[in-house]
Amino acid sequence: MPYRTPRTVHATTVPGGPAILDALRRLLDPHLAAGRVRLLPGVRVTALVTEHGRVTGVTAEDGTTWPAPVVVLATGGFGYAPDLFAELEGAPLTTSAAPTSTGDGLRLGRAAGEGLQGLGRYLPTLGGLPPAEGDLRVDWTHRPHLVAPERPPWEIYVDRAGRRWVAEDDPSIDRKERALVGIDQMTFWMVFDARALRESRPMVHGWSGEQLHAMCGRRRGVHRAGDVGTLAARAGIDAAGLRESVARYNAFVAAGHDGDFGRSHLPAPVAEPPFYAVENHPVTLITFAGLDVDEQSRVRRADGAVIPGLYAVGEVIGAAAVNGNAFCSGMCLTPAMAFGRLVGRALAASAHAGGRAVTDAASSSGGTRNPST
Ligand SMILES: Cc1cc2nc3c(=O)[nH]c(=O)nc-3n(C[C@H](O)[C@H](O)[C@H](O)COP(=O)(O)OP(=O)(O)OC[C@H]3O[C@@H](n4cnc5c(N)ncnc54)[C@H](O)[C@@H]3O)c2cc1C
Repeated sequence: MPYRTPRTVHATTVPGGPAILDALRRLLDPHLAAGRVRLLPGVRVTALVTEHGRVTGVTAEDGTTWPAPVVVLATGGFGYAPDLFAELEGAPLTTSAAPTSTGDGLRLGRAAGEGLQGLGRYLPTLGGLPPAEGDLRVDWTHRPHLVAPERPPWEIYVDRAGRRWVAEDDPSIDRKERALVGIDQMTFWMVFDARALRESRPMVHGWSGEQLHAMCGRRRGVHRAGDVGTLAARAGIDAAGLRESVARYNAFVAAGHDGDFGRSHLPAPVAEPPFYAVENHPVTLITFAGLDVDEQSRVRRADGAVIPGLYAVGEVIGAAAVNGNAFCSGMCLTPAMAFGRLVGRALAASAHAGGRAVTDAASSSGGTRNPST
């Protein structure tokens, strides 16, 4: 049923993100010109200054300390921090996030004892080749072709143990992404044979069958072998598990029925050498875990107590705080701006009122919504 009310608003002037910047710049520029706001581009904050449990400023990379009555962390997510990502999400990082998504705000907060929210809510985008060595970026040009309605699959998907984990022809990418969360390291391999490479539509965007064949052993994550056991060894899959899954799947093809996952597109067995395995990582755009905050965006410790002088807004509180474990269009940028605005207004009102602790400011703003619910 079509929506009665438009659910998406598209910028009509400049497309995409620049339209948002455009609107914000018009609000910010007069304050910059009047000297009420000072921007320090290129300054990286490396520590919070605390006195008797209260945050009283920040220290920058070059050692400069900036005293402040309150600090608002708005440092974004950790989609470019492989160590934090592995620790909090338990998967290798293949990312589309900006290199500035270093998780600095999370590290600063955790160093001061703040709690986390949104753990276990991560939802990956399905899927991408592992990045080239020494890189984190997903290669969108050569992304595996995993959308079943666009390319009915000839391959099986197996996890590290060699087990299938989903109906590969499920038309819902959302269901596949949710199933992916449950497998080891959210990493899987497309496994197929020579006939599939010949007869399927291209397995990987931008590569013909011949090009994929040529990439085996040269491009990280793309493997080929004359038998299933050797393929498993090359790809890092459990060989016994893979042999068993291939045999089982081939029996389902012969019977015309997938007794494990109900897959209905069963064009051919995986039987004609050479055999291929293409590794897929979960792809990250946003990170779901973040600093725990109360309904006034004040950062909380692990025991629930508010840390005086410290606020957090945007992806640093974790996308799950406003999205749950789902991708909701626009529900990262707009809450970041909305909660930032609410905190800014409350702090400004408090500063104007004078004589009252600025850390209590947000409690007087009224009407703020709890971003953690
Ligand atoms: C490919 C892609 C597409 C997306 N599409 C959408 C979409 O359509 N809709 C949507 O709502 N969201 C989308 N998102 C998510 C959205 O872009 C982010 O969630 C959002 O930008 C987060 O805003 P933020 O202000 O919290 O953090 P950021 O925009 O990441 O800004 C954080 C800033 O803090 C700075 N910083 C970090 N650490 C420090 C430090 N230690 N000291 C000083 N400064 C620091 C960074 O340099 C950066 O400028 C997308 C993300 C990606 C990667």
